[in-house]
Amino acid sequence: MRILISGGAGFLSSHLTDLLLSQGHEVVGVDNFITGNRDNVAHLSGNDKYKLIEADVCEPLKIDGPIDRIYHMASPASPIGYVKHQVATVKVNSQGTWNLLELSLEKNARFLVASTSECYGDPAVHPQREDYWGNVNPIGLRSMYDEPKRFAEACTMAYHRERKADTRIIRIFNTYGPRMDPYDGRVVISFIRQALNNEPLTVFGDGKQTRSLCYVTDLVRGINLVMEADFIEPINLGNPQELTILDIAKEVLSLIPESKSTITHQPMPPDDPKVRCPDITRAKQILGWQPVVSRREGLSKMIEFYRDQLTGR
Ligand code: UDP
Repeated sequence: MRILISGGAGFLSSHLTDLLLSQGHEVVGVDNFITGNRDNVAHLSGNDKYKLIEADVCEPLKIDGPIDRIYHMASPASPIGYVKHQVATVKVNSQGTWNLLELSLEKNARFLVASTSECYGDPAVHPQREDYWGNVNPIGLRSMYDEPKRFAEACTMAYHRERKADTRIIRIFNTYGPRMDPYDGRVVISFIRQALNNEPLTVFGDGKQTRSLCYVTDLVRGINLVMEADFIEPINLGNPQELTILDIAKEVLSLIPESKSTITHQPMPPDDPKVRCPDITRAKQILGWQPVVSRREGLSKMIEFYRDQLTGR
């Protein structure tokens, strides 16, 4: 197949690209490099099945030749990233989704949109199942991400119902692994960077808020399975093992025993969800998918990736 990935030079997209190329497909990545990074796909230069186009999917996109699948992955995705690029985040998840749905009709391509656990906001139901409608502050400091992602889902369902677009929706929970931007502020990469640099690990609030962490290869395998499955409604993708942020800090420190870092507490950002954990019953039933990489294994791989890079060794 010939497959288009918006946000093609992003963290998740670059791993998804590796998976799709390994399956023998051709991949066209599109990125405007607001948060994407050419280094993430540098290893693919010279691969004649891979092409990277610099373009903004908020503008109408002209792609020559057939396209069989569109993965709409483009968007700033870290709280720091989407607050820094608020208007771009709103646009890529609204106008960008709309444009790519139009392209999917033009090319007769199947379309998948990367939605998010942020659709559940600060959840009143725990763990989060796909039939929970969420608790989102529509004007808060995450609203430029949460609400357009919710719109992206609504837009996708409208194209599916009225225009018969062939669509898929995933809700991605916290994911970690190599190629995350070391300075995008997300928790795992921040703690690893801080520990490797012997700086204090910055735990926000008392650190009792929870997240669940999925290793990137598990996640992209799930994304690909959703695309190829016959199921229209949203599917949660994430690791259901929930832990506190304080536990994440301690685990990172235990895996970098030479670190001289300590743990320090900083104020809790506004609208920070207190708990988050996916119910992945649907993914298990429909896709036969669940994460297989243990946290210890995933964190160790990630630490190895950044050890040389961040310490200048
Ligand atoms: N967090 C933290 N210290 C950091 C970065 C994040 O304590 O240096 C906390 C943050 O307050 C949140 C959790 O870790 O409760 C996950 O934050 P992240 O930015 O990774 O993503 P989120 O799940 O909030 O979208």
